[in-house]
Amino acid sequence: MPPAMDINKLRNIGIIAHIDAGKTTTTERVLFYAGESHKMGEVDDGTTITDFDPQEQEKGITIRAAAITFQWKPKEMWINLIDTPGHVDFTAEVERSLRVLDGGVVIFSGMEGVEAQSETVWHQADHYRVPRICFINKLDRIGADFFRVHDEVVERLGAKTIPLQLPIGKEKDFIGVIDLITRQAYYFEPGELGKKMTKEPIPEEMVDEAELWREKMLETIAEADDELAELYLEGEELSEERIRAGVRTATIEHRMTPVLCGSSLKFIGVQPLLDAIADYLPSPLEVPPVEGDDPKTEKKLLRHPKDEEPFCALLFKIQADQHDELGFLRIYSGTLKPSTRVLNATRNRKENITRLWRIRADERQKVDLAHAGDIVGVVGLKDSITGDTLTDQRSPVILEHIVFPDTVISMS
Ligand code: GDP
Repeated sequence: MPPAMDINKLRNIGIIAHIDAGKTTTTERVLFYAGESHKMGEVDDGTTITDFDPQEQEKGITIRAAAITFQWKPKEMWINLIDTPGHVDFTAEVERSLRVLDGGVVIFSGMEGVEAQSETVWHQADHYRVPRICFINKLDRIGADFFRVHDEVVERLGAKTIPLQLPIGKEKDFIGVIDLITRQAYYFEPGELGKKMTKEPIPEEMVDEAELWREKMLETIAEADDELAELYLEGEELSEERIRAGVRTATIEHRMTPVLCGSSLKFIGVQPLLDAIADYLPSPLEVPPVEGDDPKTEKKLLRHPKDEEPFCALLFKIQADQHDELGFLRIYSGTLKPSTRVLNATRNRKENITRLWRIRADERQKVDLAHAGDIVGVVGLKDSITGDTLTDQRSPVILEHIVFPDTVISMS
């Protein structure tokens, strides 16, 4: 059994990217570091973990959303990774996943930079007010340029960025990142699958540049954090924790965007990315309540992310695994146990939820009690389709209506 989950230490996040920016590779690396993946798969030979749909493996693009749960032990965090599709034809599905996640990692290719579809997805994420971190990937590629892509994120997307790292080296000589908060250089040894991260002082020739960017970083954070601004102006030494808290406030409350960089293929920058997800993106308990309609009176109702409130969840995906047809639920309020009768408030039909599962990279785990804020796969739904609201029978609510283009997708 997995250890009990503290929802404060949970992050519901999605990786959002233009096709080919490296979403699959990054997901793969993330799961690897999280210790979920025993056998590494490479995108190019069609054996990656998230892309378990044969059709998808064939195409090499992520066309189906799936939620995978893993633990990021260094920060004692749980992450529900909601897979968002990365192809231009599937923006409706991207939109649906944006609805259920609390934070996003937006990946840009360090070569191609911001592309037309990245703009669409970025603005969709703005619409749903999803706090984001940017990861400028593929910096080992010829022609990749962190600074150019960073400027595009600012100019084309109108993002207020907080660069937290600088790349060390370019193209084939790209070997690590400078962390502007800790003032350290992190190198990622090619060793056994590039696992090893070492920490060293910033190289002499980059010290001045790093200090300049650090000042800029602190000034930007200060715009969002008055207390930090005061300490900064008084010339106080700011601790790493204090700066991180400022970045967190800036990201969650002021929609500023921390920017990190790396090469997921070469395992560069992936561990710091996981730390950033834990440090800067919100827990489900920090997001505003969801709004819905009382189906009888049509009055507006709010559901807060609290176990004590009546159960309410959005069915955001129906997907078969090798055993069952699973309905993926984002629980917004209340709790859910196996063998529970719930109401599909959207269709006014009762449903029996027989079992709950948490989907790990290579197995699934039974869940006896799912809490407000969590995402689980459930078995037993008969008459429900993607987009329906499931609730406590006595307290029905229909969440803000979202029009989804497709209905039940069954792979069985
Ligand atoms: P997705 O379409 O966004 O899921 O992108 P993939 O992860 O499938 O990557 C697209 C291609 O770019 C594949 O051939 C990857 O091997 C390659 N790729 C991904 N990340 C990197 C990287 O950091 N550096 C380099 N050189 N190639 C990468």
